[in-house]
Amino acid sequence: MPTIPYPNILLDALEIGVIIIDDQFKVRYWNKWLEINTGIEPAKIVGENLQTFYPQIDYKVFSRKIRTTLRLHSPTFYDASLQNRFLEIPRTKITTSLLTTMQLQVTIAPYIPEQSMVMVSIYDISDLHELKLNLQHQMQTIAKLNDELYREKAIIDSNLLIAKIDSDCCVLEVTQAFVTFFGYKRESLLGRPLSYVFGEGSIDFDSKHMRDVIASQQRWSGEVKAFLENGDGIWLDAVVNPITDDNHEIRSYTVIFHDISDKKRIELLSITDPLTKLFNRRKFDEVFEQMIMRQHWNKDASFSLIMIDIDHFKRLNDTYGHQVGDKVLMETAQVLTQTVRTGDVLARWGGEEFACLLPDVNVEKALHVAQKLRSAIEMLDIPEAGVITASLGVSLYKIGDTEESLIQRADTALYRAKENGRNRVESY
Ligand code: GH3
Ligand code: MG
Ligand code: MG
Repeated sequence: MPTIPYPNILLDALEIGVIIIDDQFKVRYWNKWLEINTGIEPAKIVGENLQTFYPQIDYKVFSRKIRTTLRLHSPTFYDASLQNRFLEIPRTKITTSLLTTMQLQVTIAPYIPEQSMVMVSIYDISDLHELKLNLQHQMQTIAKLNDELYREKAIIDSNLLIAKIDSDCCVLEVTQAFVTFFGYKRESLLGRPLSYVFGEGSIDFDSKHMRDVIASQQRWSGEVKAFLENGDGIWLDAVVNPITDDNHEIRSYTVIFHDISDKKRIELLSITDPLTKLFNRRKFDEVFEQMIMRQHWNKDASFSLIMIDIDHFKRLNDTYGHQVGDKVLMETAQVLTQTVRTGDVLARWGGEEFACLLPDVNVEKALHVAQKLRSAIEMLDIPEAGVITASLGVSLYKIGDTEESLIQRADTALYRAKENGRNRVESY
């Protein structure tokens, strides 16, 4: 049997395993790489049958491959994946992987075909294999995350009122919940300014205030009034968050809304007089206190308090009945509301008494407003009650005043108006 001269410098220098073998599986050459990695010396294996050392190889398949190689005079691949394993070569490299034996790629090439000899090249592709496994694992994780994100997005989309807007406050995106809640068609919202849904009397999303918020690139939260497609006004709590792009520049904002209509309704109830719908005494006291506080900072302007008391109201009740009395109170409240300016604060002080705070006025202006109020009451046309009149007392804030002192002076003036014949305005 012809042998291959030992050692073959070229074959031993290769960084891969090389076996020269014949079609009867007799080993003719076992290179250095194999000696190092398997621990089997060439002197032991050369001339022996590979089956003795590696019985687990599927020799039927191996034989068929060798014959094909020899017949076609061209290399073939031997599938050495785990099910159809080849040599079991332990991995010496320290890795974190679970692979304890090398993952091999095996190529069979003709060597001396006339003597049925082939060269089997064995490449360690464990690193590649591991990379592939890692990649597969990562892809699975990403797919899982994607799936979760998708599900969460669906939950958000159907439950939360969210709008994405650009720096001009124009709508870029809205959730399905937003569309359903407001009743507008999605197409009619996209590209439109958010103020389309936010009407007057609230922070308008196109307002200077809102633009300032957006320009300052900060988070903003507050209460806003909005209108449903059917015209109903509702109160929302809004949180505006800037969204930065890859260059850390803010290009858009998310606005998350909460319906707080119920809270607002309760709040309103707690500050409203049920009969006249004016502010109640509690709210009036709160505003009054704020006005006095503000006066500490702003000493240039003054403000005025007017106390209004309907004349002979007890008699009116006794003559026409309590219901007529109530009606007079309601109509008086209405006419007072129509007569004062928007910045003025009107409240039901109690019984048939009303109080009004006029910011930024002097005594002449306050007296003028009081006269207007008095006259408006006198002009009321309530057939079942006849002519209604009221007496008014006016006091003007001066440095050092408290709520009590201002009320006291207005009360004294009011008492004087009663004494001087009613249907009059007096000031202190
Ligand atoms: P004066 O001209 O001096 O102010 O006399 P007056 O009768 O208006 O004053 P008085 O304080 O004696 O009477 C106020 C009455 O207002 C007594 C009370 O029964 C009535 N009143 C208080 N609250 C209500 C209310 O909510 N509805 C009705 N109908 N009457 C009320
Ligand atoms: Mg009274
Ligand atoms: Mg009265």
